Amino acid sequence: MFENLSDKLQRSFKTLRGQGTITDENVSDALREIRLALLESDVNLEVVKSLMERIREQAMGARVATALSPSEQIVKIVADELTNVLGKDTARFKFASQPPTVILMAGLQGSGKTTTSGKLAQWLKKGGHRPMLVSVDVYRPAAREQLAIVARATGANLYEGKLDPGTTPGTPEVLRLAKEARRDAANFGCDILIVDTAGRLGIDTALMDEMSELKKLLNPSEILFVADAMTGQDAVNSAKAFNDLLAITGAVLTKMDGDARGGAALSIRQVTGAPIKFLGTGEKPDAFEAFHPDRIVSRIMG
Ligand code: GDP
Repeated sequence: MFENLSDKLQRSFKTLRGQGTITDENVSDALREIRLALLESDVNLEVVKSLMERIREQAMGARVATALSPSEQIVKIVADELTNVLGKDTARFKFASQPPTVILMAGLQGSGKTTTSGKLAQWLKKGGHRPMLVSVDVYRPAAREQLAIVARATGANLYEGKLDPGTTPGTPEVLRLAKEARRDAANFGCDILIVDTAGRLGIDTALMDEMSELKKLLNPSEILFVADAMTGQDAVNSAKAFNDLLAITGAVLTKMDGDARGGAALSIRQVTGAPIKFLGTGEKPDAFEAFHPDRIVSRIMG
C-alpha cells in the first residue's frame, strides 16, 4: 500500500544524490518533493506540516561534515521522523488484572469491526488465551448472525444471548447483553471478552452515548478503533471523534491489502495519540498482524 509514497520519496532522494554538499537550494527542492509525496499519499495536513517542520530543521542543521552523503543524511532524517510519527515500539496489548479482560471494538459500519473481532479472537487463541465473542448490535440482527459465523470460523466461544422479540432495541438492551456476556465469560473460564458494537454510517449521538455507557459498564482494558484504511482522511477524522469521546487505547487498520495510499496509517497516531496495534490484510481470519512501526518505515523507505 505504500508503493506510491515509497516511489515518490525515492525520487526526491535522488534529487540530492550526487550532490557534494547540502545547500539551501537542493534541500528545499528535496523537501518540496517530500511534502508533495506525503500530501499525495493522503497524509493529514497537520501531520505533514509538523513532520516537514522537524525534517527541515534537522536537514538544515545536517550540513556539518559526517560520514554520510547529503542524500543519505536526508534519508536518515526522514526515516527517523516517520518512525516518530508511527511510534518507535510495537504497542503492547493490555490485559486486566482480574479476568475477563474486556476489549471494546469501536468503529463505523463497514470498517471491518466484526471481521476484526474474529481475527483478534483467533490471534489471542494462538497466544494461549480463551476469548469469548459477543455482539451487542441489537439494531441489525444480521450483525449478530455475522459474528456467530465468524466465531464458528475461528473456533472462538460466542455469547449469543437472547433478544426477546418485541423489545425495543436501544442502550438498556445493549448493556444487559454486555453484562450477561461478561458473566458468561467468567463462568466458562474465558479470560477475554471481545465486544463487537453496533456501527453506524456516520457518527451520531445515539451511537456515542451507547459507546460511553458500554465503557462505563465494562471498564475495558482496550478500546480498539477499527478504521478502514481505504477511507483515508475520513478514517482519521472518525478516529479523532471516537478518541475525543472514549479515549481509545489503540487502532486497527483494516483493508491494508487494498490500494489505499497509506495516509491514514501515517496520521492516526499523531492525531489521536493512540498507537496502531494491528493491521487487517485480507478477509480471512488469519489475514491479521501486529503492527510494527519499524517494518512499515522500512517498507516506505524502500
Ligand atoms: P463492520 O460493519 O465494521 O462489522 O464490518 P465487517 O467486518 O462486516 O467488514 C466489512 C467488509 O470488509 C466485509 O466484506 C469484510 O470481509 C471486509 N474486510 C474486513 N477487513 C478486511 C481486510 O483487512 N481486508 C479486506 N480486503 N477486506 C476486509
